[in-house]
Amino acid sequence: MLRLQEGRVNIFQSRIFQTNSTVIDLGESVLICDPSWFPDEIKAIKSFVDEYFPNHKKYLFITHFDFDHVWGWESFKDAFIIAPDISNFPEIQKKCLFDWHNWDSEHYITRDYPPRLPENIDFVLNSNCSLKIDEILVHFYSVPGHTADGFAAYLTGYKTLIAGDYLSTAEIPWIGTNSIEYRNSLLLFKELIEYEHPKIIIPGHGMPDETLITCLQNIEQALQYLHIFESKAEKDKEAVMQYISSFPFKKASLDIHDMNQRLTNLTGA
Ligand SMILES: [Zn+2]
Repeated sequence: MLRLQEGRVNIFQSRIFQTNSTVIDLGESVLICDPSWFPDEIKAIKSFVDEYFPNHKKYLFITHFDFDHVWGWESFKDAFIIAPDISNFPEIQKKCLFDWHNWDSEHYITRDYPPRLPENIDFVLNSNCSLKIDEILVHFYSVPGHTADGFAAYLTGYKTLIAGDYLSTAEIPWIGTNSIEYRNSLLLFKELIEYEHPKIIIPGHGMPDETLITCLQNIEQALQYLHIFESKAEKDKEAVMQYISSFPFKKASLDIHDMNQRLTNLTGA
């Protein structure tokens, strides 16, 4: 697992899908986001928190209930849990547990606990809202599109944006609901970045963006992709392929593109 550090922000990147788990020292408290993938990786994040922040109050933020962002929660079950409200999305809960169980079974992975979701969420995210932790104001933004329940977080004092499964430098936009919601979420990110000028932008997967300019360029290209990905016109098809080729793992992005097209054919949105 790769560990990147920028001041008080620590990013643990899994050896699979470049999945980012984040640990931020807020002074008296520590914010842990999406602790993920293999049991040894989740244990390493827990050991890091136990070693460096033994007396800090723990906050756990789950950006969305895709299994790969959830299954480390139990290692931090004593934390104050901040997560999207999935009480109205039984299908998301079911899918999360199903995917978690399936993935572990297919890869012969055993964990110290069975697939299960937190029963009590201390701070339930329904819409845009804020929470003050120590002296740091954390804004939560509803960003549907990849999933229906997604939230991003912006820590004002730290100028740090936790983007959830958006703004990836490793893969093209993965549409889970519909392209209209996805586009609106990208526009929200664009506005936030232009207004706040974050210093660190952490996607769910892939390296954090180097500069604001490259991040804004990536958003423009993603918006363009959403605009043309359904097009049958030859020049648009070429542009889509060019866009996909600009990502480091072409096969994965081609697969995501196929899924995006299939979803659109199914929903017509
Ligand atoms: Zn993910």
